[in-house]
Amino acid sequence: QRIGVVAESTAGETRVAATPSTVRGILALGYEVVVESGAGEASGFTDRAYAEAGAETGDAWAADVVLKVNAPSTAELARLRDGATLIGLLAPAQRPELLAALAARPVTALALDAVPRISRAQSMDVLSSMANIAGYRAVIEAAHVFGRFFTGQVTAAGKVPPAKVLVAGVGVAGLAAIGAASSLGAVVRATDPRPEVADQVRSLGGEYLAVDVAQEASTDGYARATSADYDRAAAELYHAQARDVDIVVTTALIPGRPAPRLLTAADVAAMKPGSVIVDMAAAQGGNVEGTVAGRTVVTGNGVTVIGYTDLASRLPAQASQLFGTNLVNLLKLLTPGRDGRLTLDFEDVVQRAVTVARAGEVTWPPPPVAVS
Ligand code: NAD
Repeated sequence: QRIGVVAESTAGETRVAATPSTVRGILALGYEVVVESGAGEASGFTDRAYAEAGAETGDAWAADVVLKVNAPSTAELARLRDGATLIGLLAPAQRPELLAALAARPVTALALDAVPRISRAQSMDVLSSMANIAGYRAVIEAAHVFGRFFTGQVTAAGKVPPAKVLVAGVGVAGLAAIGAASSLGAVVRATDPRPEVADQVRSLGGEYLAVDVAQEASTDGYARATSADYDRAAAELYHAQARDVDIVVTTALIPGRPAPRLLTAADVAAMKPGSVIVDMAAAQGGNVEGTVAGRTVVTGNGVTVIGYTDLASRLPAQASQLFGTNLVNLLKLLTPGRDGRLTLDFEDVVQRAVTVARAGEVTWPPPPVAVS
């Protein structure tokens, strides 16, 4: 079968679903690969580099399997041929109309953002690989705007104190932010309602700030909404930290809900001039009062609030490489014969979970699975 790598049409998207090196991985599974001309341009991969890896340049939408980063537009969907399989980020929970449009065609749609959170599927989990990049980039954005060093120094021109960074929410993105900020030499603190993250914070050189109000334990690795008691105690912690720290990176999300509000306008007003906030939850409504999704805002007291929603796309070559590798790992699972033929086994929980539309039917959400 032929696998097509199409160009992204979403404004501001710089990633591509396969790089020349992941094309080699796809070819090794027995497929032919056709790349749309210019598909890799924004991430620095030329048509020639794909050709050298063994891909053809041509009409990637006519392929048997189409690889894409973002969900297709209506016009793009019409270009899929009957019987084709589309693989990409399809936001099944947020886009019922897209699922219906996919099911209206005789095609199969696999959502990369529906990979279940089990150890076996980790190598295919694009949400984690993109969150890791975004967390790193959030710190780089903050460092770029912040007018000082992150690291402390004693120089002939005087003593420079280290910057203090608070990371709120210690999932994949939060851990990457802690690692990046502490490797730049900052003093890093982090908080999360899940106390089990404390050791991970410390292992990356950070200090874990506990909110001492017991939370209902999570059963699937995701956070639950916090209690009113927890939120009151956390609000005190944020208010005290806001006065002290230079940089705040917020990453708090609760699946299926708007992002929890962590910092109020009063907290932001209490921060020192020149401080920087990166609100990584901006696309889900923001963790910080006053964040504008996709924009940078400077408050009256001189605090820069960054609400970029494309942090992973700001490191396009790296993001495409990891995205493409996650896709090759999924294709390995779907090509048990290594014979260039994609098969779909609904008995396998990973394959069942990612299939959101098939043969005219919406197949999302999948039946619940036990977590390993
Ligand atoms: P996420 O993006 O859903 O949420 C980010 C963080 O926000 C979480 O740590 C959450 O606890 C935190 N949060 C929620 N409410 C908060 C509040 N009020 N205040 C502060 N923080 C709040 O999480 P994620 O990055 O997807 O990862 C969550 C966990 O799942 C991590 O422990 C991660 O290691 C694990 N994980 C496992 C797998 C796997 O096994 N395949 C894959 C990915 C992640």
